[in-house]
Amino acid sequence: MIITEKKDTNALLETIKNYKKFFLLGCSECASLCGTGGEPALNEMKELLESQGKEVKGTFVTKTGCQVLGTKVELKGFKEELEDTDCVIVMSCGAGTQSAVELFPDKPVVPSNNSLFLGNMTRLQMFDERCSLCGDCILDKTGGICPVTACPKGLLNGPCGGTSDGCCEVSPDIKCAWVRIYERMNNIGQLDTLKKTTLDAKDWSKAQKPRNLYTRKEKEKK
Ligand code: SF4
Ligand code: SF4
Repeated sequence: MIITEKKDTNALLETIKNYKKFFLLGCSECASLCGTGGEPALNEMKELLESQGKEVKGTFVTKTGCQVLGTKVELKGFKEELEDTDCVIVMSCGAGTQSAVELFPDKPVVPSNNSLFLGNMTRLQMFDERCSLCGDCILDKTGGICPVTACPKGLLNGPCGGTSDGCCEVSPDIKCAWVRIYERMNNIGQLDTLKKTTLDAKDWSKAQKPRNLYTRKEKEKK
C-alpha cells in the first residue's frame, strides 16, 4: 500500500487561503488505512475548513482514487457540488491527486497528504517500507526480504563492515537487513543457495521515470 501522512495543517491552510468553497475527495484504500483519507479524516477536514469560515460543498470517499475512470463514474452524482467548488482537496496519495487533476482540468486541486513510501501495515497505524519498486524483483534470491529497501545502503551481496551485534550501522535501532536475510535463508534451509548466489548490480534503467505499462497491448495485437 502507499503510505501517506497528513500535511501540516497551517501549511495546508496557507495553500488554500484564497479559496472559499471546497469539495473533499478521499480514498477507501491505502489512505483510509493510513487514517488520511477515509470518512473520519474527511469529517475532520470539513470541521477544520468550516472553523475557518470556509464552505464544504461536498465530500466523497472514492473506492480507489488512483483509478481514474472508476473515480470519474463515481463522481457523476456530484456534478452540481463540483461545479460550485473553487478547489478540490484530495485526501489520498499523489496518484489519487493526479486522477483528480485529470478529471477537473479547469479546477485547482490540492493534496492534503504527503505520499511517503510503498509499505506494509504491521500493526494498527504502524507502517514499514518494504519495496522500492526497482522493476526487477530479487526477493526469490534473498529469502523474501528486500535488501534494496531494508538496507539503507541497498547492498545486494551481504552486509557492510558496519554491522554491529546484528544491528544496522546506519540505523542502529533496526536489525541489519543481511542478518535478517541470513536468518530467513537458514530457517527455510536455503543457506547453501545463499552462499552460492552473487547478485548482479541492479539495472536501474528498469526504474527510469516516468514508467508506464499497458497490459492489454499484446491482446489487441492478436
Ligand atoms: S527487489 Fe525490487 S521489486 Fe523486489 S521488493 Fe525489492 S525493491 Fe521491490
Ligand atoms: S549494517 Fe546491514 S542493513 Fe545496515 S547498511 Fe550495513 S549491510 Fe545495510
